[in-house]
Formats: sequence, C-alpha cells, structure tokens
Amino acid sequence: MPGLHTDSVEHKAIRESVAGIVSRYGPEYFLERGRTGGGIEELWKDLGASGLLGVHLPEEYGGGGGGMAEAVVVVEELAAHGMPLLIWVISPAICGSILAHHASDDMKRRWLPDLADGSKKMAFGLTEPDAGSNAHNVKTTARRTESGWTISGAKYYISAIDQSDAVLLVTRDAQLSTPEKSLLSLFVVPTGSPGLSFQQIDTSIVSPDRQFTVFLDDVQVGEEALIGVTGNGLRQVFDGLNPERILVGALCSGIGRYAIGKAVDYAKQRQVWSTPIGAHQGIAHPLAESHIAVELGRLATVRSAELFDAGESAGEAANIAKFAASEAALKALDQAIQTHGGNGLAHEYGLSELWFVTRLMRSAPVSREMVLNFVAQTSLGLPRSY
Ligand SMILES: Cc1cc2nc3c(=O)[nH]c(=O)nc-3n(C[C@H](O)[C@H](O)[C@H](O)COP(=O)(O)OP(=O)(O)OC[C@H]3O[C@@H](n4cnc5c(N)ncnc54)[C@H](O)[C@@H]3O)c2cc1C
Repeated sequence: MPGLHTDSVEHKAIRESVAGIVSRYGPEYFLERGRTGGGIEELWKDLGASGLLGVHLPEEYGGGGGGMAEAVVVVEELAAHGMPLLIWVISPAICGSILAHHASDDMKRRWLPDLADGSKKMAFGLTEPDAGSNAHNVKTTARRTESGWTISGAKYYISAIDQSDAVLLVTRDAQLSTPEKSLLSLFVVPTGSPGLSFQQIDTSIVSPDRQFTVFLDDVQVGEEALIGVTGNGLRQVFDGLNPERILVGALCSGIGRYAIGKAVDYAKQRQVWSTPIGAHQGIAHPLAESHIAVELGRLATVRSAELFDAGESAGEAANIAKFAASEAALKALDQAIQTHGGNGLAHEYGLSELWFVTRLMRSAPVSREMVLNFVAQTSLGLPRSY
C-alpha cells in the first residue's frame, strides 16, 4: 500500500530486515504466545542478532549508532506484521535511551551491549498506585546508606519485569526532597535483589508482555546502581519518555497498517451480493479514511523522531504523534473488524485479539487527556486545572 511517507535507502533496508525475520514467525506466533503466556525468546534473539534491538543505541556500546528515526522503522514494521512488542518500547527504547544519555561509562558498558543484542532486558518502573498521570507524586523512596541506598515502596503496572534482568526505578530522594517538592533519583536494580518481589496483574491484553505490581522492601543497592546525579531524575526520565511516546506512535502506525492491510485483502475477495464487499462505499470509505488518519499519524511520528534526533525540543511533536497514531490505530482496527463481519471476532483472522493492546495506547503510557492537557497548556498557553 503506497503511503505519504517514503523511506531512505537505509530505512528501507532496516524495514526489509525486520520483515524478513518476522515473516518467519507470523502474527499467529505473537497471538498464541500472548494467549498462553509463552515468551518470544527466539524472535527476540533473532532481532538482537540482526542489530534490530539496538539500532538507536551508540555504536561504542554495541548499538547501531542510529537514532529514534531508525527505532521507529523497526517498531512500526514489527507491528505492521501483527507484532506490537511492548517490550521493545520499554527495554531498548526507554531504558536504553535513559542509560545512553545519563549513565556512567561503566554502567553503559555493563548494560547497553546486552540490551542491544537482546541477551538482557530491563523493565521500567515509574507508575505507582498513587502516581500514574501525576508522576510527581512518586512515593518509592531511596535513602542513603553507608555503601549506597536502600529503596522502599511499590510500583504498579510494571510491564515484563518477570522476563527482565533489572528494573530502572524512579524513586524519591529522601535527603533532597521536601514535603512540598520531590526530587527524583533513578536506579538500575537487579530483579533478583533481596526485598524485590512482584505479583501479576491480570488484564484483557493479549500480549507476551504481562504487567505486575512490584514491591520494594528495603532493597539495598550500591553506588554503582545510581543513574547520573541524585535528585536530577525528573529531567533524566524525560529523556526516556519522549522516545516512549514516539515509539508508541510507531507501534500504533504499524497496527493501523496491519489492520487496514488485512481489511483491504478481505474486502477484495469477500462477496456477499454481486460485487466484492470492498466495492460498497459503506466498507470502502471508512477504510480510506482510516488510511488517511494512519498515514498522518506516521508522518507525525517520523517528524517527532527527526526532531528528537536533531536534539530539538520534541515534547510537543512526540505527544501529537502518540495521540494521532493511537487514535488512528484504534479506528482502523475497529473498521478492519467490521469489514470482516463475524470473522472479525474469530481468532483465525488475527484482529480482535489486538483490540486491548491497541486500546491500551489511549490510556498509557500517557493518557489522551494528559496529551490534551500538554497541548492545551504548552502549545496553546491555556491555564492549568491542576
Ligand atoms: C498495560 C499497561 C502497561 C503499563 N506499563 C507500564 C510500565 O512498564 N511502567 C510504568 O511505569 N507504568 C506502566 N503503566 C502505567 C501507565 O503509564 C499508567 O496507567 C498511565 O500513566 C495512567 O496512570 P493511571 O493508570 O494511574 O491513571 P490515573 O492517573 O489514575 O488517571 C485516570 C484517568 O483520569 C484522567 N486524568 C488524570 N489526571 C487528569 C487531569 N489532570 N486532567 C484530565 N484527566 C486526567 C486520566 O487521563 C485517566 O483517564 C502501564 C499501564 C498499563 C495499563
């Protein structure tokens, strides 16, 4: 399907490399693993071995030396083959980007090559029961000890910690914070640390990546666990949140392409009256509209990645991309299900089971309301309600 966006020669090669790998697995592999809770270790290993997990990470630490623009191609193409991999957005993207920007040379050497080749994964722990949209309300606390820190608190909805070697934790610094203002510090905490435990949260999402409540009960970490500077965590975490938004834009663009592609194929061959159903404007026009919205979301995503890579302020563009692409994907998927009639709900057609993972993107990682707040306040200069 031609679109508004054309790839550079380099991006085309990355896209073909992703397509070559994932077509050996197929969307049914992702859904079956999602349904049964099986992992996707073989696929993850293949992607890592082909350099497709670390395209955006620095070459000196095992990455491909590219930027968000290259990560967008990988994540979009995976999802366009029916594989929206949340763990890609979390481990190499959010955690990898924060480490690449702020970690010491030692920590980068310890983690980035393994995140890039897929041999290790890192979960991201920001959200808490009372700190979702309001990340300033983080209560998990890091207290100085003689040899490092002790961390206590709880994190909520932490994806894929069960398959991760460590979690990048956002904590409140006990010494630097005041009752009025929390200053945050970031740590890399091994998931096997004494005092760290987790419990699955059951959701309707069909994905190999599950969510967990994480309990931190006086978890001891050494000096080497700190990322960057104590109390500077909010600024540091933002170097992971823009990539997260940009890549959610990419993931949703891919889901949109996947859904429309399947709907178009079906609409061309399914005949109920004298013509294929795709000839009825009731089927054709909503698909055409979905294609327009998905392409606009893709353009916004690509543009936000370009701004991020150029070191420009990318917050507004990343929020717009995330919003546009996630709304477009959800509409496209719904229309693809509708185009398939009853078959839209059959597992065989690989659509309806993607519903909740796509619907998730309206609520997380940043909800549509918080994106609208950002645009209202930052782009339009309107007053805040909170
Ligand atoms: C499947 C899944 C995976 C996740 N993975 C991770 C992860 O790996 N790591 C992690 O740290 N977090 C993760 N999260 C958490 C996610 O980032 C939060 O769910 C999200 O930020 C929203 O926070 P909340 O759920 O606490 O909603 P709340 O903050 O309680 O918001 C509830 C509703 O109120 C609205 N609202 C709140 N404040 C305002 C306002 N000022 N104006 C208008 N509306 C408002 C919100 O938009 C939302 O609709 C995950 C969540 C899910 C569901």
